[in-house]
Amino acid sequence: MLTQRPRGTADLLPGEVEQWKRLEDIFRAVSRTYHYQEIRTPVFEHTELFARGVGETTDIVEKEMYTFEDRGNRSLTLRPEGTAGVVRAYVENKLYGLPDLAKLYYVGPMFRYEKPQKGRWRQFHQYGVEVLGSEAPEVDVEVIAFGAEFLTKLGLKDVQAEVNSVGCSECRPRHREAMVEKLRPVADRLCKDCQSRLDRNPLRIFDCKNESCQAILREVEAPTVLQCLCDACQSHFSAVTELLQEVGVRFVINDRLVRGLDYYTRTAWEFTVPGYSTVAGGGRYNGLVAQIGGPETPGVGFAGGIERALLVLQEQGAAVTERSPLTAYVAVADAQASQTATKLLQELRCAGISADRDYQGKGLKAQLKAADRVQAKYVLILGEEELKSGTVSVKDLATGEQVTVARNEIVSYLSDLQNSSGVVEHDQM
Ligand code: ATP
Ligand code: MG
Repeated sequence: MLTQRPRGTADLLPGEVEQWKRLEDIFRAVSRTYHYQEIRTPVFEHTELFARGVGETTDIVEKEMYTFEDRGNRSLTLRPEGTAGVVRAYVENKLYGLPDLAKLYYVGPMFRYEKPQKGRWRQFHQYGVEVLGSEAPEVDVEVIAFGAEFLTKLGLKDVQAEVNSVGCSECRPRHREAMVEKLRPVADRLCKDCQSRLDRNPLRIFDCKNESCQAILREVEAPTVLQCLCDACQSHFSAVTELLQEVGVRFVINDRLVRGLDYYTRTAWEFTVPGYSTVAGGGRYNGLVAQIGGPETPGVGFAGGIERALLVLQEQGAAVTERSPLTAYVAVADAQASQTATKLLQELRCAGISADRDYQGKGLKAQLKAADRVQAKYVLILGEEELKSGTVSVKDLATGEQVTVARNEIVSYLSDLQNSSGVVEHDQM
């Protein structure tokens, strides 16, 4: 127990973390170009927020939440998704009172009690965006384009958006009625979950993962919401698809697509890569803000799983294993040199030059090997000679060339090299 992590969780070791940071950096960079600002909300919220906000009939609320009582007998839940918390923060902090749209993004851990399997974790991580305050189809398209661009910049191949409309409170009841009419006679052949969905939220039957339920939907020619859209939803959907074409986002219409969460209205979409499960998904949620007690405010957003994206990236052979190289490795080649090495390291680091040294008493040869392992550009050798003459021997590991530089000039010497080679240290970016 003590040496085993809880089921469905992962340790990210050095090496893998770089992949995550790269993904987050790209996501933040795209957020900047689309003009979205970061929001950070608590990892746990009142259980009621998710019950109301995510929807009572969703898999998440029915069977996946990590709910617990705290010492003050409050029912709290580890957030299973990001939207409800962002919307709660939007209302609580009265962001609707600001003159501009709220265009927000987040990255962080989410928790769902699921059966762990490939690409499915109990603690997983999502990146996502939300735009609150506009119904315009242009905003749906901006959010879809954002997602497509991010996934493409990440390096995923063949990403496409599958787009649908799930209607609004005007067309959904019509659709619901039509669904029930078609499916009631064959209800006993549906799985247990879908039998209950038929009563509570028949649209969600389209989301069932049992092939037999999908076959029944085809057999009875179950109506799609697209076939039942009201005029306003129809013209919104047409505008979205036209604009998607206009901006060149790769998409297909998938009229059977429904999202796991109850709060979606109108546009719903998923980003898929052929041969893989969904990498990200999103939709419009015009009722959610009011649903949790804020003023009637339309919203649209999407979220994707970091683990899922990195898995697909790896399987497509596009994972980038990059490790930021070290500029200087200080080789302590004389027993007396340790103090000078410590001082030198401090000067280098303060000047923004990444540097490290040996602390284990390795011989010079072993230190050179260590410098190689960490992909150091230069080894700065401090031996007996150098100590005596107040110099440092600088070995360029790429060329093997070695020069002698005065101790008090070493920082500016390396800074010059760094600038002229165009290398910018990560912490200066
Ligand atoms: P699924 O049908 O695969 O269960 P979902 O509809 O529950 O997906 P969303 O709630 O839409 O998923 O979450 C958006 C994204 O978050 C998913 O497309 C996926 O990339 C990721 N995701 C969801 N659940 C998990 C999980 N348990 N582990 C890892 N990633 C997940
Ligand atoms: Mg799920």
